[in-house]
Amino acid sequence: MKLVFLGTGGGRFSAINQRRMTGGFRIENLGGKNYHVDPGPGALVRTYQFGLDPRNIDGIFISHAHTDHYNDCEILIEAMTKGMTKFYGHIIGSKSVIEGYEKWGPAISKYHKTKSKVVSLKDGETAVCNNCLVKATPTVHGDPAGIGFQLDYKGFKISYTSDTSYFKKLADYHKGADILIASVLRPGVNSIRGHMSSNDFIKLINEIKPKLAIMTHLGLKMISKNPISEAKRITKITNVKTLAAYDGMSLDINYNNPAKPRMVSLKDVDAPYHGSNRDLSKFERKNTRKLAIKNGEIDELKLN
Ligand SMILES: [Zn+2]
Repeated sequence: MKLVFLGTGGGRFSAINQRRMTGGFRIENLGGKNYHVDPGPGALVRTYQFGLDPRNIDGIFISHAHTDHYNDCEILIEAMTKGMTKFYGHIIGSKSVIEGYEKWGPAISKYHKTKSKVVSLKDGETAVCNNCLVKATPTVHGDPAGIGFQLDYKGFKISYTSDTSYFKKLADYHKGADILIASVLRPGVNSIRGHMSSNDFIKLINEIKPKLAIMTHLGLKMISKNPISEAKRITKITNVKTLAAYDGMSLDINYNNPAKPRMVSLKDVDAPYHGSNRDLSKFERKNTRKLAIKNGEIDELKLN
């Protein structure tokens, strides 16, 4: 199984200025399936940039109706369903994301909900997604319907808090997590409403005792402070291996030993899709038709 981070910036301003990317993360090969979690602005482009293919996802999870978490979900739904021509995949999100709640969402148009299995979850509810059980966990955040997720694949649990303040019962819902991924906006004791600081994260790690903890969704203060030294500090205090995610971080995880992931820094690939490639036009002429036919993208080749 792999975790690939396509964005580790958090909050409105990180998203607007792209100090860090905001494409969310992918869970690769969890029981043979691929999932994209919280595809914020740039998720599609970052997928290609780091050498992945948006067409091979089997599910999309969206935690709440804030732009930095849902922005690219519709285009990824199109990728997953072969341009809305095949019924495929799962879309799991909060009520605000799927149906709309008060002034929040919906983040997905009716059209984009017609070609996949769509499930809206409230905290505590569960859904079956391929060979996984997905449990919605509660959050205290700007979007009152926001949720986090715990994925259970044959007893191996990946928990994602999404954006939330620390609160007493939070750990109960993430209990048993082998891997705990959390939005940690600020360093030290600098909590801000609706978000955790690293000291909140320390409390949560101590309560849950996962085998591996990862902080992402890092705010500007955290980024300026050096998140890696902050992660080392957390590791020392909690005795739980803690990583500060960075853009393009890929972790190869062994189910039997998640505390020792193999970390790879993905380089930008020289993707033929990028305009920066000098040989683009040569490549395009040679391969566009062939690749389009291979991927079933033929309607745009047809002559009207
Ligand atoms: Zn948010």
